[in-house]
Amino acid sequence: MPKKKKSKDPYVCPRCGTRVTEPDRTWTLVSPLPDKYGRITITIMGSFTCPNCGHKWRAVLKKLKEGGSKPGEQQAAPKEEGEIIEIDLSDLDKLDEMEPPE
Ligand SMILES: [Zn+2]
Repeated sequence: MPKKKKSKDPYVCPRCGTRVTEPDRTWTLVSPLPDKYGRITITIMGSFTCPNCGHKWRAVLKKLKEGGSKPGEQQAAPKEEGEIIEIDLSDLDKLDEMEPPE
């Protein structure tokens, strides 16, 4: 059975495939409502400009869950730099609505 989820590297230019080392800037989106476990989803977004073709795009860098009713769980959350984030298509559809704050 084929897997539905695709691994996508947010640092790679969707037009030409050049890997960008750093986003132009990053910002954080906090979900206004907690999920059913009482956790808040924090989404870290980044905007990128491709040094090769000039294409600009935005991508989700990381999603974090904060809070909830299980004390101690936060500390168990791994903090890994360079983690590859899986993005589904439903996330990509929402990106256009996510404007970076000025
Ligand atoms: Zn490019």
